[in-house]
Amino acid sequence: MTAAWSAGLGLGSAADAPAFARRQAVVTGLRRIELREKEVPSPGRGEMLVRVQCALSCGTDLKTFRRGHPLFPLPTPIGHEFSGVVAALGAGVRGFELGQPVMAAPTAPCRECFLCRRGQENLCRSAIANMVLGAYGDYLLLPRHLVAINVFPKPAQISFERAALLEPVSCVVHAQELARPQSFETVLVIGAGPFGLLHLIVLRSYGVQRVAVSGRRAARLNWARQLGADLVVDAALPGAADSLRRLNDGYGPDLVIECTGEVAGWQAALRLVRRGGRVVLFGGCPAGSSLKIDTRRLHYDNLTLLAPFHFRPRDVQRARELLCDPRLALERVITERRRLSEIAEVFGFLEKGDVLKCAVVP
Ligand SMILES: [Zn+2]
Ligand SMILES: [Zn+2]
Repeated sequence: MTAAWSAGLGLGSAADAPAFARRQAVVTGLRRIELREKEVPSPGRGEMLVRVQCALSCGTDLKTFRRGHPLFPLPTPIGHEFSGVVAALGAGVRGFELGQPVMAAPTAPCRECFLCRRGQENLCRSAIANMVLGAYGDYLLLPRHLVAINVFPKPAQISFERAALLEPVSCVVHAQELARPQSFETVLVIGAGPFGLLHLIVLRSYGVQRVAVSGRRAARLNWARQLGADLVVDAALPGAADSLRRLNDGYGPDLVIECTGEVAGWQAALRLVRRGGRVVLFGGCPAGSSLKIDTRRLHYDNLTLLAPFHFRPRDVQRARELLCDPRLALERVITERRRLSEIAEVFGFLEKGDVLKCAVVP
């Protein structure tokens, strides 16, 4: 163990939370979140105990808080974007040491089921069913299948905050790997939330020069401008759609990436893309919603619809490479910072939608 690592090691050091108890944020009912004291678990074979250094807010957290989540019945621990240091290792874990900074995705595929064998590990049922939750807390226990596939050493040059973006960036990478943006193309991102802006930044890694962003909140449109969007359009203003259709000399954008997760956004994406273009339906809509598609437009305009969900291990590896690339200002989607003790307040301002991502530090 290096000196730098041991300095960050939490267990037993006097200034830190006591080693016998940990706090963990739990959603106990709709719009109710509280910190509960739990015993610090000891890792079993193949498992890793992480002392959380940073957890990031995510739209999924807010959905769970507001309306519950079909996969995570209440009460449920919450938070799945994190980075930390190794606090304890189970038997048989290779390649990690106590005190080592790590970054991780919260899921990993089984690699044995039909879909995994087809290379669609993003759809592995066991990956989602065994998702790690509870990153708003002092410690997080990572299961064996996760440690084996989706946990990595955190390089010293990237901060814990930036490292905690591994999961959302993996989702973005997966979507863009399917869409294959070309450097000469004009891309429209609908929705200027954290995911829309991560798409904007990751598009640059494909060499895409022209990116337009449309959204509704002034603060978010401002961030899109600051992050270098070539055209920023307030979707609420009259004439917004016309200015987007004018892209590519009136053909419309080559690729539209929809990040609002609302049916209206999906419809707009299908209307705005150029003939022969591609639409990435990235934001998942509420259960039970359906989409009306003009079959004539779909067929005779030769549209390609892509609806990527989650990510595969290769996307996580690519996301880690992007996070290690200092040219990509990925951490700029983190616009707020709070202590774990302020978690209720965090959800209060997330509901208002005026922040992108909030970093929560124990
Ligand atoms: Zn997330
Ligand atoms: Zn599987």
